[in-house]
Amino acid sequence: MNGDLVTAAGTVSRPAPVISVVIPVYNEEDGLQALFDRLYPALDRLGLAYEVLFINDGSRDRSGALLRAQFEKRPAVTRVIYFNGNYGQHMAIMAGFSNVRGQRIVTLDADLQNPPEDIATLLAAMDQGHDYVGSIRRKRHDVAWRKYASRAMNRLRERLTHIRMTDQGCMLRAYDRRIVDAIAQSTEVSTYIPALAYTFAANPTEVIVGHEERAAGESKYSLYRLIRLNFDLVTGFSVVPLQLFSLFGFALAALSGLFVVYLLVRRFLLVGPEAEGLFTLFAITFFLIGMLLFGIGLLGEYVGRIYQQVRLRPRYLVQAILQADDNRPGAGHD
Ligand code: UDP
Ligand code: MG
Repeated sequence: MNGDLVTAAGTVSRPAPVISVVIPVYNEEDGLQALFDRLYPALDRLGLAYEVLFINDGSRDRSGALLRAQFEKRPAVTRVIYFNGNYGQHMAIMAGFSNVRGQRIVTLDADLQNPPEDIATLLAAMDQGHDYVGSIRRKRHDVAWRKYASRAMNRLRERLTHIRMTDQGCMLRAYDRRIVDAIAQSTEVSTYIPALAYTFAANPTEVIVGHEERAAGESKYSLYRLIRLNFDLVTGFSVVPLQLFSLFGFALAALSGLFVVYLLVRRFLLVGPEAEGLFTLFAITFFLIGMLLFGIGLLGEYVGRIYQQVRLRPRYLVQAILQADDNRPGAGHD
């Protein structure tokens, strides 16, 4: 089955997979079967040795059991990593990256928003020598506010970081093994994998892929989690916000210096004592207080990242790994 070789001793030894598909799964019981039904035929059609690596990110529904059933159905090409809790989509992918065996790695969401058939498109781009293939959603099917918000965020991120991504939200992407290894080695606590990959890529490109509405279940990203994600994306890849802040502080200090000189001149040379313009003063003060609070919050973002990092806790805990025994000592564990 699927390129397995049965050796004389009767044990099954497989050629190392060429493609690894990494799929984070969190409470996706309603959609998983549809995913299996489309993903495996699409991969079989590629005619390459592949593996599908699911990471169960602490699902509280039947997802874990469904994944086990699928593993039992296609043990040669399926592996499942079970987390002992919910560590988030990017940590799940991280765990997948530390365990892949293929030379080319494709990430895909479990909710079928991106068609698994488009994996072939990504791989074709890799054949042309690209080591990282990003994706742009052909026609995005998400709620309106998410489209606007992400367009605005995209623009801001492009200004603040070196990362150029037309569409940061789409996870159907392909990576060369070297990039995946580099990502797996970077010990950052909260990170955004496509952006990290872009940093490491020598020859990145983007292709257009399909996008559909969620097949079943609901989005795991609330407004709050989206805001967090975008903060991570900016603060994780750039210190420009902090530097802007000191620039702003400098400009403000210079301006208020001039203002003080002007007031002094008015007081002693031109007008004499006066107590007008109180509201203007209030407006300026409130604006400055707002900026101050924002600045403190921004500092907090960076300090928080540093704090998470210095604790040196494991980023996720693997409870179990389901995989066929394949006679290669240590394979799949690092
Ligand atoms: N996901 C995960 N852990 C989480 C949240 C999400 O593994 O804490 C998975 C989820 O099962 C899905 C993918 O990440 O496969 C993307 O999540 P979702 O579709 O909810 O995000 P959206 O498409 O709304 O951005
Ligand atoms: Mg989705």
